[in-house]
Amino acid sequence: MSTIKQPQAPQGESFRDHISTVDEKSGKRIWVYPKKPKGRFYRRRTWLSWLLLGFLFAAPFIKVNGEPLLLFNIIDRKFILFGVQFLPQDFHLFVFAALTAIVFLVLFTVIYGRIFCGWFCPQTIFMEMVFRKIEYLIEGDAKAQRRLAKAPWTAEKIFKKGLKLGIFFLIAVVIANVFLSYIIGADRVFQIASEPISQHWRGFIALILFSFVFFGVFAYMREQVCIAICPYGRLQGVMINEDTVVIAYDFVRGEPRGKLRKGSADSDAEKRGDCIDCKLCVQVCPTGIDIRNGTQLECINCTACIDACDGVMDKIGKPRGLIRYDSYNGIVKGEKKIFTPRVIAYSVVLALLVIGNILMLSNRTEVETLLLRTPGQLYQKTEDGYISNLYNYEVINKTDKDMPIEFELTEGQKIEGVRFRIVGDVQPVAKAGDVVKGVMFIDIPKDQLKSRKTVLHVKVLSNDKVVDRAKTTFLGPIK
Ligand code: SF4
Ligand code: SF4
Repeated sequence: MSTIKQPQAPQGESFRDHISTVDEKSGKRIWVYPKKPKGRFYRRRTWLSWLLLGFLFAAPFIKVNGEPLLLFNIIDRKFILFGVQFLPQDFHLFVFAALTAIVFLVLFTVIYGRIFCGWFCPQTIFMEMVFRKIEYLIEGDAKAQRRLAKAPWTAEKIFKKGLKLGIFFLIAVVIANVFLSYIIGADRVFQIASEPISQHWRGFIALILFSFVFFGVFAYMREQVCIAICPYGRLQGVMINEDTVVIAYDFVRGEPRGKLRKGSADSDAEKRGDCIDCKLCVQVCPTGIDIRNGTQLECINCTACIDACDGVMDKIGKPRGLIRYDSYNGIVKGEKKIFTPRVIAYSVVLALLVIGNILMLSNRTEVETLLLRTPGQLYQKTEDGYISNLYNYEVINKTDKDMPIEFELTEGQKIEGVRFRIVGDVQPVAKAGDVVKGVMFIDIPKDQLKSRKTVLHVKVLSNDKVVDRAKTTFLGPIK
């Protein structure tokens, strides 16, 4: 964040010229071996992660009225949110909801920085709470992992690496299955997994591809996804400011840093800040940065450095919070100003968008009808004294049940003897989640028409229940 003045790091600002996980000279990747974190934030994140993972894995299998709780079937253009089906005709609702979500994320980031990355992002949750934990279990803590990486390919190394990557791949397959369940539904994924491949080769290829992608992401890409690929991470620089709450090192309290020495050897202890330069905060960082240099693009707000430093402070008898959630102004001036003009402006926009969303959702009907006079047609006179207009109708059924459709004039309209004649004489049926289109005549006795153009209010019925209403015009002869 070039706009934020940070304490001068010992090596100056040069650390901002390159990514911490890429070697400056060779350009090669520096593999990060973060030390296993422990502490109150890590415990809280673990609980939340289990909760979120439980929901993520269960949601495609929970059924509401026979439909999954969540489905994002872009192939068949079928979307279900908490049991409510949305069709392509609801696209405007999706766009509006997506817009609201983006504004919410921006506003949230302006106030609380990258808190989403550390606590809610699936990438961080899977990486830190699933894959990393397995890695610690098989290969040990950071030191042991480094040792193993440098060691020759002995039977032990082959076993450990093979076991780890094998388990990683199995989990990647599970994630790919769940991911695909969100797209094509759990039932179809089960079919792909249980029936001959020849019947579902496309689905099977997708499953294999996704498995390898997830395996690659968690076994090799890791923090590079957050640093170099994730657009949200890249946008941090324009969203946070001096009042944004981020994970920050209190340089006012911590500097000048210096090693803790025992007894009389520590004669200048009074002049030093609270940071004892133990580098534990650096060792636990999964993106390989030193948070004492100031807010950096790579920081995913995982809280590992807070826990590490709190542990150190406990040991040396200093108050916790040398690294904590705070803003730049909070550290420098002790300010905790959340409602800045920018935040107020974003909040107003957000509130308007939320109100718009609520209005649009509350006005959303399960059936949508379009009733238009057929272009190029005027009116016809029938032998039995009626004036007839030809119409194109379109009824969208957003429910999960088939609907036989009928049309009637609304009660309030005082026109006697109106007839609705479906061309083909077959009652239209709007299939579940589908559209029925057709052509029909509306006949009105000539003596009932008061003017050349009459506005008709039509009820759409299914099984004698009004499911929608439509408005159209009827043309007759000049009086
Ligand atoms: S863990 Fe705390 S005391 Fe140790 S180097 Fe980091 S900031 Fe300083
Ligand atoms: S600096 Fe701290 S919060 Fe940021 S990624 Fe590293 S350990 Fe996590």
